[in-house]
Amino acid sequence: MSDTAAVYQFSAKYLWQDAQWRRDATFGVDSDGRVAAAAGELPDYLDGWVLPGMPNLHSHAFQRAMAGLAERRGPGDDSFWTWRETMYGFAERIDPGSLQAIAAQLYVEMLKAGYTQVCEFHYLHHQPDGTPYAQPEAMSLALIEAAREAGIALTLLPVLYMSGGFDGRALSPRQRRFGHDVDGYMRLLTNLRKHESHHVRVGVALHSLRAIPESAWRGIVEHEALQTGPIHIHIAEQIGEVQDCLAKRGARPVEWLFDHAAVDARWCLVHATHLTDGETTQLARSGAVAGLCPTTEANLGDGLFPLARYLEAGGRLGIGSDSHISISPIEELRWLEYGQRLSTRHRNVAARAAGDSVGETLWREVQKGGAQAADLPIGALDVGKRADFFVLDSESPLLAARDQRSVMDSFLFAGNVSPVRHVMAGGKWVVRDFQHRDEARIAARYRMAVTRLASS
Ligand code: ZN
Repeated sequence: MSDTAAVYQFSAKYLWQDAQWRRDATFGVDSDGRVAAAAGELPDYLDGWVLPGMPNLHSHAFQRAMAGLAERRGPGDDSFWTWRETMYGFAERIDPGSLQAIAAQLYVEMLKAGYTQVCEFHYLHHQPDGTPYAQPEAMSLALIEAAREAGIALTLLPVLYMSGGFDGRALSPRQRRFGHDVDGYMRLLTNLRKHESHHVRVGVALHSLRAIPESAWRGIVEHEALQTGPIHIHIAEQIGEVQDCLAKRGARPVEWLFDHAAVDARWCLVHATHLTDGETTQLARSGAVAGLCPTTEANLGDGLFPLARYLEAGGRLGIGSDSHISISPIEELRWLEYGQRLSTRHRNVAARAAGDSVGETLWREVQKGGAQAADLPIGALDVGKRADFFVLDSESPLLAARDQRSVMDSFLFAGNVSPVRHVMAGGKWVVRDFQHRDEARIAARYRMAVTRLASS
């Protein structure tokens, strides 16, 4: 597979555009990897269902290598907090080389699943004892390089992590490699922003309310460096976190955030699981994105997001694979809908009106919300946006006899083998006939890296 940019003309049998299927749609791709107007030359025919790539708005890449290692019961009741201890133990062993190996493998898996962009919520900054690397941004650069190797668009969100609890306590020994003071963090941000391109966007992540001392909050959110670009934050994932916030700050986390920051369309509130009705409406009206990670939230026993009320209020949302217990937009959307069905004992919860398709509603909403949270020109095949799309396998029995009315729901709800056959990202074919262009080399390096981690 050639790695050089080329100019393409495509004709798609069916293209998902403006939240509907368009037959015999044509579009071009320019030499910068952007969508261009069709030029009337003889196009390549895409025989099947073509969809713009899905943004993945929340990832901790290193956790891919520990997926499945925290499913054995401990001595007491297992929870998010016991999982976090396993994760911290694992995180201690990662260095820039192993991070790049793991992230590249993860990004290949994402592309094969139809994710063409990833927001990396990155907090493994320093050496395990907290000492900065000789090149302080070495771990961030490992992620940028992994994204380049795999061919996925990256929104890099270096995380500011300052304290170990709502009481402002210092980071624990296992958290030291996450930490920055404000000046050190702003230097990191400035250095990383030099790497921005139409493949890489750099934004801001505040780890959580408990990781930012109350006394430092205002100076951070009003800092000049935070006045442009996306801001992501973990929030209200756990009941314990809600209780701590109430006890120490006198308000629930989302309530406190809205009282202490101008939350708007630049913000992505990751998880936002435990919301009152008032918080749900406030979040929906703010224009911020709720960053939902249903397979991780299920795996960690977090709880269920109030989806129906949020959609009713016009709220924006996207999906992320977070801990990478699963890397599949199909599975995220299934869990999102099925969690609601199980808890409400109703079907078709995400669909807003009679006749609406659950799959089309969810796909439309999370593609739009994911693009907003990523702050890159993605999420639709409009002229000037990144040429990120995938083609479903027209030979898949799953899609036989499906039409414009039924194909999205069959794609999302009916199979166990992904029908994502070809993937173009940034104007390059990165997956052809289910195979990534550099899959064997990246997988071999990944196996070596995790073998080393397992024996260290
Ligand atoms: Zn997370």
